[in-house]
Amino acid sequence: MSIAPDLDLTAFSRYRLMEGPTPIQHLGRLSKLAGNVDIYVKRDDLMGLGGGGSKLRKLEFLLGEALAQGADTIVTVGARQSNHARLTAAAAARAGLACEIVLTRTVPRDDNDYLHNGNVLLDQLLGARIHDLPGHADAMAFAQHRAEDLRKSGRKVYLAPLGGSSAVGNLGYAACAAELLGQAREAGVSFDRIALPNGSGGTHAGLVAGLLSMGEDPARVVAYNVLATHESTLANTRLKAQQTLELIQPAAILPISGVIVADGQRGDGYGIPTDAMREAVRLLASTEGLLLDPVYGGKAFAGLLQDIRSQAFAPGSKVLFLMTGGLPGLYAYRSAF
Ligand SMILES: *Cc1c(COP(=O)(O)O)cnc(C)c1O
Repeated sequence: MSIAPDLDLTAFSRYRLMEGPTPIQHLGRLSKLAGNVDIYVKRDDLMGLGGGGSKLRKLEFLLGEALAQGADTIVTVGARQSNHARLTAAAAARAGLACEIVLTRTVPRDDNDYLHNGNVLLDQLLGARIHDLPGHADAMAFAQHRAEDLRKSGRKVYLAPLGGSSAVGNLGYAACAAELLGQAREAGVSFDRIALPNGSGGTHAGLVAGLLSMGEDPARVVAYNVLATHESTLANTRLKAQQTLELIQPAAILPISGVIVADGQRGDGYGIPTDAMREAVRLLASTEGLLLDPVYGGKAFAGLLQDIRSQAFAPGSKVLFLMTGGLPGLYAYRSAF
């Protein structure tokens, strides 16, 4: 009897960027500190290409689609310290595509580390052409114009959305749901909660769509919004989960309760540090030697810690935190620590 879960994504083009499954690890010291909860992490920060991170899962399907369409250039958008932009540049380099990234200065930080270190340094090394836009600019409109100009000059352009969170990109996290479920079954562990950050919503949407397609209850998945408000994150993630689900199972309908977003960690806005984030980053680093990023993982882990401390979980619960990567962001936020 096979314990591998059943999720067939072979109908979709995929360009492999990962070495294989990422490990799930038990955090013994932190679990002891926390008291009655067993904390696990899924290490989606552990991937070799371009410094690794969650966006590579989406990019396997995005690049698959781009290459199937005969693209020679990929254009995408992001905040100045976008991990998605950095990993798109890395994936494009690997696949032999040209890459242009449109970065906006939406986050109110203007020190040298934020503007030039971290992901921005890597974007340049990875060979991407950077378009530097002010915070109020419409990055996608700019990217569309740029794509048109490139097409007029004969290039075949593939335009990837913010965070790579198209329905096709989100398939990467449907695949992750199957991977995770298989690992949990093999280890004989069942997770009461799967916690993660929610930015552009595709990671969360893909996980939910994947679990539903395998007949699993997605209610164990709880994401902390770090980019938009609770209300708009919920609406956006529901829409994306529905679209991703439909790609896998054309007639399927997302239950309204399928997407759960926990509010309270965004603070003053996207990319703006909070004290809880600083504490979470320091705690995980100093007890387990693991590094969270300041924009996504730090805030989401702060939310999980708060839930554990306020006894939101029954004693003996097993919680899995999805580590999504973003380490270069720490160098960009040096002055925040
Ligand atoms: C993009 C990103 C996220 C959020 O994923 P979304 O699909 O945009 O919600 C989380 N963590 C890191 C490190 C990221 O780069």
